[in-house]
Amino acid sequence: MSPRSISILGVTGSIGQSTLDVIEELRGQGAELDIEAVTAGGNLELLAATCRRLRPKFAAVAEPGQLGAAREALAGLGVEVGAGPSALEEAGARPAGWVMSAIVGAAGLQPTMAAVRRGATVALANKECLVCAGPLFIEAAKRHGARLLPVDSEHNAIFQVLTHPDRVEKLTLTASGGPFRTSSREAMAAATPDQACAHPRWSMGRKISVDSATLMNKGLELIEASYLFGFPSKKIEILVHPESVVHSFVHYLDGSVLGQLGSPDMRIPIGYALTWPDRAHLSTARLDLAKVGALTFEAPDTGKFPALLLARAALDTGAAATTALSAANEVAVEAFLGGRIGFLDICRIVEESMSVLEGSGAASIAKSPTSFDEVAVVDQAARGAARRIAGSLAAA
Ligand code: NAD
Ligand code: MG
Repeated sequence: MSPRSISILGVTGSIGQSTLDVIEELRGQGAELDIEAVTAGGNLELLAATCRRLRPKFAAVAEPGQLGAAREALAGLGVEVGAGPSALEEAGARPAGWVMSAIVGAAGLQPTMAAVRRGATVALANKECLVCAGPLFIEAAKRHGARLLPVDSEHNAIFQVLTHPDRVEKLTLTASGGPFRTSSREAMAAATPDQACAHPRWSMGRKISVDSATLMNKGLELIEASYLFGFPSKKIEILVHPESVVHSFVHYLDGSVLGQLGSPDMRIPIGYALTWPDRAHLSTARLDLAKVGALTFEAPDTGKFPALLLARAALDTGAAATTALSAANEVAVEAFLGGRIGFLDICRIVEESMSVLEGSGAASIAKSPTSFDEVAVVDQAARGAARRIAGSLAAA
């Protein structure tokens, strides 16, 4: 089985640990998979336990100040240790044929780009780096011959059934609806971080869990799908499907609709990306349709979940707007998880940040960035605007 050499960016996260599970299962079947590099944001204990299982050659932690502690935690494992942004990039740059991109947020962009620049196969779980720098990211992947394999379950589903890209009428991204699908606005206004993170179907990191509760996750996925598959916003619809069994649909011009079904278990798309174009034999939960009984679908309530409208508007405006949307959302989600703002303030902050940036000089969302430096300018301006708005909401 190819590939033989693997790196995992964000190995201590939910996707990182599921990737580890898949690797161990395949190793148990005799696959020879060497681990080149791993990265972690923090959590040295879990990093050490992971390195004991995976035996990577190199491990990078995000904080430069953690270098000593990381060296101590990994002592005796024969792992070279680095810390800080350049070490994260080095992890992406090291010569692994297959790289899992699973750092959360725009922090994943540079390490993932390091893998893209050397033409690696990149399994893309991190959607923010695509939303943040979409056209430039896709163009770089083409230029360097890097193959992008979508891991986000909806995009992986589309990838699995996109047999005739030039015969597509539209794509449907399914959405579980999140924990507040049937909640009142009052209940949402009072929601705590733990309530927002209690996803009914998927177990995930806290940032994406909050995004799933606001439906911003689906908004980011709309943008992700548009950049990845090259379809305009008007050809991508969103459909709420609370059972989370059909992971997305492709509608063809002849009237056929193809979807991919499976249990809500990220090891399925991870395994698909790891063994593509083959398929693995994995002990993932089997789908029992008789037990599920009925599959239901409903249009999303954009009045209750304005994130969908904000994301679509950003996609229609252009690449700087999607950069700003994702950056402002990261700041707002962090403020919510830190207990400084309410749940409904998240979308308010994103919307107001976008208005601040409209026509505001170098960081205007009306212009499309032509370089990663320009992306960084817009990203920082959006974070600044979002922090100011969050600060005034927190003080009110
Ligand atoms: P997580 O929070 O569980 O893990 C994130 C990883 O990134 C951890 O290893 C963490 O230590 C690291 N990290 C955090 N901040 C960092 C920083 N500033 N610099 C470097 N490393 C940092 O998140 P997750 O749920 O595994 O999600 C990872 C990515 O995959 C996200 O972009 C998410 O949208 C996407 N994704 C996740 C799922 C899922 O089921 N969890 C599904 C689809 C897509
Ligand atoms: Mg998804």
